[in-house]
Amino acid sequence: MKQELAANLECDVLVIGAGIAGLTAAIDAAEAGAKVTVLSKGPIASDGAASWMAGWGFQTALYPPDSPEEHARNTIQVGQYLNNQELVLALTNETQRCLHRLARWGLHYRKVGDRYFQVRLPGSTHPRVPRLSREGLANGIEYRRVYPRQLRKLGVRALGNLQAIELLKRNGAVMGVIALDTVNGAFVAIRAKAVVLSTGGFMGMYRFTSTSPTLTGEGHGMAYQAGAQFQDIEFADFYTGCIVWPPFFAGDLDWVTSLRYDLAGVVYNSRGEDVARYKKGSGLALPVIFEKEIRAGRCSPHGGLYLSFKHLPDNLIDHYFSSMGRARWIHALEEIGVDIRRGALEIRPAPLESIGGCRVDARARTNVPGLLAAGEITGGAEGAFTLAGNPMSFYMAMGAIAGRQAAVVAKEVGAIPDDLPDVRPMMEDAVRPLENEGKNGVPVLQVKRELQEILHNYLHLMGKTQTGLDVALQRILSIRDDAEKWQVATKSRRHNNEWMEALEVRHMVTVCEMMARAALARTESRGLHYREDYPAPSNDWLCNLIIERDGDEMKISRAPVSFSFVEPGQR
Ligand SMILES: Cc1cc2nc3c(=O)[nH]c(=O)nc-3n(C[C@H](O)[C@H](O)[C@H](O)COP(=O)(O)OP(=O)(O)OC[C@H]3O[C@@H](n4cnc5c(N)ncnc54)[C@H](O)[C@@H]3O)c2cc1C
Repeated sequence: MKQELAANLECDVLVIGAGIAGLTAAIDAAEAGAKVTVLSKGPIASDGAASWMAGWGFQTALYPPDSPEEHARNTIQVGQYLNNQELVLALTNETQRCLHRLARWGLHYRKVGDRYFQVRLPGSTHPRVPRLSREGLANGIEYRRVYPRQLRKLGVRALGNLQAIELLKRNGAVMGVIALDTVNGAFVAIRAKAVVLSTGGFMGMYRFTSTSPTLTGEGHGMAYQAGAQFQDIEFADFYTGCIVWPPFFAGDLDWVTSLRYDLAGVVYNSRGEDVARYKKGSGLALPVIFEKEIRAGRCSPHGGLYLSFKHLPDNLIDHYFSSMGRARWIHALEEIGVDIRRGALEIRPAPLESIGGCRVDARARTNVPGLLAAGEITGGAEGAFTLAGNPMSFYMAMGAIAGRQAAVVAKEVGAIPDDLPDVRPMMEDAVRPLENEGKNGVPVLQVKRELQEILHNYLHLMGKTQTGLDVALQRILSIRDDAEKWQVATKSRRHNNEWMEALEVRHMVTVCEMMARAALARTESRGLHYREDYPAPSNDWLCNLIIERDGDEMKISRAPVSFSFVEPGQR
C-alpha cells in the first residue's frame, strides 16, 4: 500500500533516545545555541530508559588525592586495557561538571562540611560515589524529576511516542530520521544538521533481563545500516543476582543488591554449598560462577540459587529495613508468604548493560559524517569490564560532550537539508508485517522467541563455544533471510505493540549477528566475554574487534588499542 509522511520536521540537532545520555545531549546542545529536538519511543522521562532504573552508582573524582586521571586509570585497569583511553579521560574530566549541575538543579547530596560524602566501590582506589541525602532514594528517580524542567527552560522540542526506524542520509552524511508515531501509526521525518544517537543498550533482547524489554538495540541496527563502525560487541555486563523467585519480584536487582552487600547474604546451590567460595583462584567473575552452577543443574526448581540471610538475628534484619526506610519491602514479601529471616530468595545472573557498541572518538563522533553517539549505545568507554558505578556518570558526561559537539557540527553544516531522500521504501518495509497474511507468513513474536532462545543458549555469560556459536550464527542468518515473511496478528496501526516489536526485531537480528560473529572471532576469555573452549586471556587479543557493513556483508577486523595514557600492567 502507498505510504505517506504525516509530518516533515526540522531542527539543528536531533537527539534520538531520551535516557540520561540523550537528555543531557539535548540540554548541552541547546545551551550551545542549537535548535534541538529530542525523541523517544515512549513518553519522555517515563519510558523504558535504563536511566530511570539506576541505583546510586555515579563515579566522579572530586578531591585530591583522587583525580580524573586516577579515575581513568582505575577504569582502564578494570576494563583490561581495551578501552579508548582518550575517551575515558575526556569522560572522567567531564563528570564533575555533571554532578555540580545536578546539585544546582535540585538533587540533594549528603555532605561532610562543605565536601560531598563519597563511597568507594570495588575496583576504585578512592571513595568516588556521592550519595543522595535521603537514604533509599535512587538516582534514576531523581533524574526523571529534574531533567524535564531543564528541557522546558531551554525550549527543547521533546517528542514522546516516536519510534525511530531508520536514519536518513544525503551525500554520505546522516541528515535525519524517519520515525513511527506509535499512537496513531503515522510516519514522521525529521531533518537535522547533526544527529546524536542515544538509544541505549541491547540487554532488553534477553528473555530474563534486569533492564527494560524495550531496549533492544534499535539504534545499533540503524547505525549499522548507515555505515557506522562497532567495537567490543562481545562484551556485555550481567548482574550477579536478580530475583527469579518469588515471581512478583522477578527481575528486581535493586533491593537484592543492597541486601546481598549490606547484610552479607550467602548464596547456596541446591547441594547447600556456598557458591562464592568457587571464585577463589578461578579467575572467573562471580556472575559466571553463578551461571555455571545453574547450567550444571545445581539450582532451585525455579532455576536460581538460594540467597539466604538466616545467619543473622531477626531483629538485625528488621532494624536494617526500618533504618533504610523500607520496612514496606519486607512486609510486601511477607504478604506473599516469604520471610527472608527464615527462607531464601532465589536469584540468578541477569543481563544488565551492553559494553560494546558504536565506535566513537573522544568527541563522541562516529565514522559517519553528521552522526554522533552517546551512552550505552557506544563502545570504548568501558573496555572488557565495567568499573562499578561508571555507566551513569560516563553516559551523562558523554551526552554533554556529544551535545556540545553536535552544536559545533550543526554550525559547520550551515543550512538544514531541505529535501528528503526517497523515504517511501523505508515506510513500505516498516508496514510489511501489517500487510503480510496467510500460511506462508512467520509470526514475528515467534521470531523474537527464537532469537531469545539463541541468546540464552549461546550468547549469555556461559554457552559460548565454537560449535554453539556456529549453530547460533546459522540460525540467526536463516531468521534474517525470512524477514520479508514476518507478520503481526494485530493489524491496527494505532497503539500496536506487536508492530512496534516487529520493528525492534528487525534490528535485533543485526545485533545478534554482530554478537555471534564477534564472540566467534575472539578466541579467548577476558572480562565479560567467556569462551568455554578458550577459558584464559591471550595477549594476541589485546585489541578491539571492529564490525561494520560492507555492502550486504558484515565485515569483522581487528584494531590496535592506543595505550596513550596507561600501558598494560602499568600503574
Ligand atoms: C536496573 C538497573 C540499574 C542500574 N543502576 C546503575 C547505577 O546505579 N549506576 C550506574 O552507573 N549504572 C547503572 N545502570 C546502568 C545505566 O542505568 C545505563 O547504562 C544507562 O542509564 C544508559 O543510559 P542511556 O541514556 O545510554 O540509555 P537509556 O537510559 O536506556 O535510554 C535509551 C533511550 O532510547 C530510547 N529508544 C530506544 N530505541 C528507540 C527508538 N527506536 N526510537 C526512539 N527512542 C528509542 C529509549 O526509549 C530511551 O529513552 C543500571 C542499569 C539497570 C538496568
